[in-house]
Amino acid sequence: MAQLLLGKTAIILGLANKWSIAYAIAQAYVREGAKVLITYQGDRQRLTVEELNTEIGAAKVLPCDVTREEEIAALVEQLKADGTTLDIIVHSIAFANREDLSRPFVETSRDGYLLAQNVSAYSLVAVSRALSPLMTNGGAILTLSYLGGVRVVQNYNVMGVAKAALEACVRYLASDLGAGNIRVNAISAGPIKTASARGIRDFSKVLDVVANLAPLRRNTDPAEVADTAVFLGSDLGRGVTGNVIYVDAGFQIMGLGL
Ligand code: NAD
Repeated sequence: MAQLLLGKTAIILGLANKWSIAYAIAQAYVREGAKVLITYQGDRQRLTVEELNTEIGAAKVLPCDVTREEEIAALVEQLKADGTTLDIIVHSIAFANREDLSRPFVETSRDGYLLAQNVSAYSLVAVSRALSPLMTNGGAILTLSYLGGVRVVQNYNVMGVAKAALEACVRYLASDLGAGNIRVNAISAGPIKTASARGIRDFSKVLDVVANLAPLRRNTDPAEVADTAVFLGSDLGRGVTGNVIYVDAGFQIMGLGL
């Protein structure tokens, strides 16, 4: 079968370990022939990500903490120095304080609220602004969202509000960047057991509810999210921008299950 991303260069932000959704996306992108660049957050993750890359086979592993403008700028300089142009940017990043994912939302502190927004929503704007000039031939920017951005999901709390902002950012960025043939979309993934998800109180109960109620009667496999990221990054997705595509075994259509 033809490789869908042959000749494309993708940068993937948010790979921490082999459970990361970004790990599945990186594997799928390499499989489909893309040249893949991976970033990691801070020195603490460098060794793990470099080791994982022996399996993935990305062309380069680079640092980028998205809350630090100087690190984003250094990333851009490094890419320019290497003569890199980009076709795809995958933003697979979120963070909130653990206590804000386990107590009533009304108790969210100002600092906790701003932290979640900064890392999980604003970073898409910062990264798009910095890296989109390298998309000289047009391109695709993707981010990862969750149902908690449009419905109340108990304990998702401040992260749900950040995802609502993230999805709005997708629409505004799609409008701004569309003239340069740059598409911006989100994949709203069903719950997947990753390091971030484990920070949400009672997360395993969420998995049980989804497996019982989702039309496909099961949870979401990260490889399914990755394959949709292939579609959106590839020329097959050329007419799709400003969208949120659900890859969640259909859970989001359900109202009440008995
Ligand atoms: P993960 O913990 O593997 O990935 C989160 C990533 O964010 C990590 O790589 C972490 O290093 C990175 N990150 C956090 N702060 C950062 C910073 N300041 N600078 C750079 N990177 C930073 O978990 P995941 O579940 O793979 O999460 C990836 C994305 O998918 C997130 O946006 C998450 O909200 C979203 N998502 C996850 C699920 C799920 O159930 N796991 C469902 C829907 C959406």
